[in-house]
Amino acid sequence: MVFDTNISISVRCAKCGSFIVGDMSFFQMKNGKMVNIKCGCGEIVAKVKSWDFKTFHVLIPCLICGKEHKYVYTWKSLPCEKFKILSCPSGLFDIAFIGGQKPIRNFIRKRQKDIKELIDVLSNI
Ligand SMILES: [Zn+2]
Ligand SMILES: [Zn+2]
Repeated sequence: MVFDTNISISVRCAKCGSFIVGDMSFFQMKNGKMVNIKCGCGEIVAKVKSWDFKTFHVLIPCLICGKEHKYVYTWKSLPCEKFKILSCPSGLFDIAFIGGQKPIRNFIRKRQKDIKELIDVLSNI
């Protein structure tokens, strides 16, 4: 079976508000090791662990409700050319994005551009 073993996760840090893009690979988790995605401020923004070779669990401390949310995915359900949006169950807020390295980066770039354009628009009012 051939599949992309690298996935990316994008999360906003609950402590300082920075946008983090972290990469992880299947091989990092092969030994049941927990992969911590850290922000530059030292805060752990996401924890990923694979309990078997088919599924992996993503734990994200939510900046909206303060709880830690758990999402379970299978490697197969996460095609590397797409990404999934992880939202807080208490509301309609998107707290993280997970998927292939390329689509995540393209999405973040577009999103940052949108945010920048929004700021430009607001500052011109
Ligand atoms: Zn931070
Ligand atoms: Zn939440």
